[in-house]
Amino acid sequence: MTTSVHQYLCLTDNYGALIHDSATGATACVDVPEAGPTLRALAERGWTLSDILITHHHADHIQGVPEVKAKFPNAKVWGPGKDAARIRGLDHRLAEGDRARVGGLSARVIETPGHTLGHIAYHFDADQIAFCGDTLFSLGCGRVFETPFAVMWSSLMKLAALPGETQVYCGHEYTQANGRFALTIEPGNPALKARVEEVARLRAENWPTVPTTIAAELAANPFLRAEDPSVQAAVGMTGADPAAVFAEVRARKDRF
Ligand SMILES: [Zn+2]
Repeated sequence: MTTSVHQYLCLTDNYGALIHDSATGATACVDVPEAGPTLRALAERGWTLSDILITHHHADHIQGVPEVKAKFPNAKVWGPGKDAARIRGLDHRLAEGDRARVGGLSARVIETPGHTLGHIAYHFDADQIAFCGDTLFSLGCGRVFETPFAVMWSSLMKLAALPGETQVYCGHEYTQANGRFALTIEPGNPALKARVEEVARLRAENWPTVPTTIAAELAANPFLRAEDPSVQAAVGMTGADPAAVFAEVRARKDRF
């Protein structure tokens, strides 16, 4: 195993992450919410930044890029080709099925439109590590800003199809608030109740609740469970199209 991931907090509730390949010395950061914590994390480990992987164009994911690039001018910036007009300085414009390479590591690009039109996730399939940005959160999902709800549902289903053991890194520490909402949909779901208790213990000590796994989210995240009879019943939509059930759950969260 030559792969290691280091996650760190930026701003108030954003996560930055470094993924490092000890075989080649290559290191990528996934999004740059803030340059300072990113540069500190690199310095603490003595890692040289070789690549920057961008999930989407929102400022709280890209605003630190220029400062980090000034320190590591050779770092290559990878990001969604569909949003190249909104993300300046992309060296590699990525689309569905492309591969982003970080030394000897390689991530398959999964287009996940919904939160934004161009949003992508990075799946390091050899290591079963996925960086999902603001598409999938633990016990939640991103707000749907730029597509119909059904498009976001399709994107979430692409992530849900990854192997259950996949380690899922998210763009934000939102799990505790997400859990409060999730309990309004499935108050009797034992996996959800156990996760909410675990999250309360972690947050009381200021520990992260991320990464999570695909299997854990399939068991407890109501936004991935729109096909489940208990979620459908909770919103009075038994037998309905899962995309419509998802839309109802997402609309309720927007009002929560
Ligand atoms: Zn965002």
